[in-house]
Amino acid sequence: MNYTIFRKPSTYIGNEINSIRKNGDINVALCFPDTYEIGMSHLGLKILYSIINSIPYASAERVYAPLVDLESYLRKNNLPLTSLEHKRPLQDFDILGFTLQYELSYTNVLNMLDLGKIPIKSDERGDTHPLIIAGGPCSVNPLPLVPFIDAFVVGDGEEVIKEIIDLYSEGAGQRTGRKNRKKLLTALAMIEGVYVPSVHNTKKHKITRRFVEDLDKAFFPDAPLLPYTSIVHDRVAIEISRGCTRGCRFCQAGMIYRPLRERSPETVLTIAQKSILNTGYEEISFTSLSTGDYGSLLQLIQSFNRLCPGSHTSVSLPSLRVGAINSDVLKEIKSVRKTGFTIAPEAGTKRLRGVINKDFTDEEYDKTLHTLFTEGWSSIKLYFMIGLPTETMADIDGLINMAVRALKKGREITGKPVNINVGISAFVPKVHTPFQWVGQNSHEELRKKQDYIKRAFRKRRINFKGQHVENSLLEAVFARGDKDSALLLEEAWRLGCRFDGWSEHFNFTNWEKAAEKTGINLYEYASRRIALDAELPWDFIDTGITKKFLESEHGKALQAEITPDCRKGCYGCGLECKAVTGQGSAVSKDISSAESYLLHASSSCVTRTPSPSKLRVTFSKTGMLKYLSHQELMNSIVRSMRRAGIPLSYSTGFHPHPRISFGPALASGIEGLNEYFDVETSVFVHPSAFLKKLNSALPKGLKAHDANLIPLYGKSLNAHISRYEYEIIIDKSADKDIHSFMRRQNWLISRDKKTVDIRSMVEEAEIHGDRLHLILNDTENGNVRLYEILKEMLQKPVEEVRSLPIKRVGLYGYNKVKQVCL
Ligand code: SF4
Repeated sequence: MNYTIFRKPSTYIGNEINSIRKNGDINVALCFPDTYEIGMSHLGLKILYSIINSIPYASAERVYAPLVDLESYLRKNNLPLTSLEHKRPLQDFDILGFTLQYELSYTNVLNMLDLGKIPIKSDERGDTHPLIIAGGPCSVNPLPLVPFIDAFVVGDGEEVIKEIIDLYSEGAGQRTGRKNRKKLLTALAMIEGVYVPSVHNTKKHKITRRFVEDLDKAFFPDAPLLPYTSIVHDRVAIEISRGCTRGCRFCQAGMIYRPLRERSPETVLTIAQKSILNTGYEEISFTSLSTGDYGSLLQLIQSFNRLCPGSHTSVSLPSLRVGAINSDVLKEIKSVRKTGFTIAPEAGTKRLRGVINKDFTDEEYDKTLHTLFTEGWSSIKLYFMIGLPTETMADIDGLINMAVRALKKGREITGKPVNINVGISAFVPKVHTPFQWVGQNSHEELRKKQDYIKRAFRKRRINFKGQHVENSLLEAVFARGDKDSALLLEEAWRLGCRFDGWSEHFNFTNWEKAAEKTGINLYEYASRRIALDAELPWDFIDTGITKKFLESEHGKALQAEITPDCRKGCYGCGLECKAVTGQGSAVSKDISSAESYLLHASSSCVTRTPSPSKLRVTFSKTGMLKYLSHQELMNSIVRSMRRAGIPLSYSTGFHPHPRISFGPALASGIEGLNEYFDVETSVFVHPSAFLKKLNSALPKGLKAHDANLIPLYGKSLNAHISRYEYEIIIDKSADKDIHSFMRRQNWLISRDKKTVDIRSMVEEAEIHGDRLHLILNDTENGNVRLYEILKEMLQKPVEEVRSLPIKRVGLYGYNKVKQVCL
């Protein structure tokens, strides 16, 4: 397949660093119902990928939702959706596992099944079809997807996935006709935490959520997948804890991931070190629901920074609660590179914060801002919600005031304008939370509040980022959806709904049509208030938190009464866990032992006396890696050098970058046989040692051929290069057009409001069989643009020109001698 015809070719090629291509007796496709960029940022999928691939007789491959251009190509050519690793059609897998992170990705689940040529309904699938399993946070209310999914995993997946694969291998499974689907589903229903709609009776059975007790014993990958393209969270992410003790009443994750479990600092540091060495990433994030509450956050960051002082790996943290930010943490973070900062006040007044159980004062908020701006940050993000239960316009004014206070304080402290970005999302009532009985604000109310905030922000130049209220409406419909919402979902998908969380693809008219056809009033559905004593359709899912506790929290919310952090005292949510308290001293001890181990392991990273040198490197980009864009190619080479332990020299300032410069950009889809980059190393590295190290780390498709020492302050590559040699496979019939182009004295085109003669840029155009050999020159009139020239020379539209097999075989300097290089 020629991927240049798609929007992001590099997301379809697979073969990323740390990806695994394995054939097992049981082949699992891990399906993420959203784009590659979102799916590759998801930790859960990476964990399951590594766990399954570590089972000797099983293999895991990945599938992401194809964008509309690939979907229409597959449908037009009657081709099935395939995995990234082996390009295996979905229908040939034994098990498909979907991750349900977000309600607005549900139409993509149906679409991926259909594109995989698998019947979308469970009861239409037979013994030769794969088993369709879904897990992730949305499975705590599986009802909207019940007709389409064979089994749901409720809770942490690390242990359950092994049990499912074991069960499959024990004879209940095995493909190629030997599998008895009915028997398999009956056996699956016996696994704790697995809900099988065709077996379980929700009136009689309870499905108990699974959770791993000890994160240190749970598997966590230390060689995470490294994408070629930039993804949403483009960094190593290490989950330092799971669960949260704060009890925010709107937060489903805070309820369903209880109890709090911390990964020990020793384990975190070990994983961190190995992950950086195995990826070459330049940033690491310590993630959790409330990273600021991690037992020894400051010591963890300090230890990480001390481990490898020359590695230039910065630390970033996810959004922090007000009060969790202190100047020591900020100093550690900025000691390498200043990463962005997000704080999540969620609500604008103390009263409303009491309702949602977000316990901080205005003074604490001001102190947090003061600390951030004093430590040099000039751009921050704030997160708020609108439409929270009991909210009035006074609370909205409070929210605006908080953003304005941030703006003023920033200006006051830094002495210059600061950048305040505010993300506003609409409250969506979620199941298994104290607000599961509450209706969502009507979409008119939400829009009114959004517009009011936007107007206030516009006047003050505060940046507003919000979601369409229709998206939030649908999220609410499915978050508390029952079996009726499954009908709505199927109808909307049949009408063409896909990627509903993406504004460029979201089609609310189709959703309205689907609602009308299935007799569902979206507005009433989302805003319905449910009686506290009503039986709820999702009650059969037992998260461990009692309904009595949720009811009592609901009552306290109406009184704006705070329930304190349960590390200070258990308030009996139902889990009967041993509260995680006072780990301080034990944690510090762990840190120091982890450090001594890692300092030993990282001795090769310690900075040596600087004595910089510069190398000019010749390399090739071929095979599937021809699909890398110029930016992707640069990232890939830089990270390969970091993996190889090459001591790169960095620029100074708040955002240091490695001192590397590349030759002229090579477009995605074009192979390059003799490309160049210049790199400065902080200490002398012999060119042959450099080549050996680099080639040991480069991905298949990139190869360094030569390296030569050059002066530190010589001419840049781009200032040198002006001649380009290409080889292009063409149609025999193109001869006439090429000859007629070459016979002309000049060929004028309009470029960027200028007239440019592209004929004078073509020094040579020779045809040898089906190959066009071209030599192009930059002229005083302008620089060479290959596609522009080919379009005119071959008299073909640019889309056709882009899909021709093209190789750039040489780059030359200003001297007009063909074989000369740089
Ligand atoms: S049982 Fe107690 S300590 Fe454990 S999560 Fe619930 S409230 Fe917190």
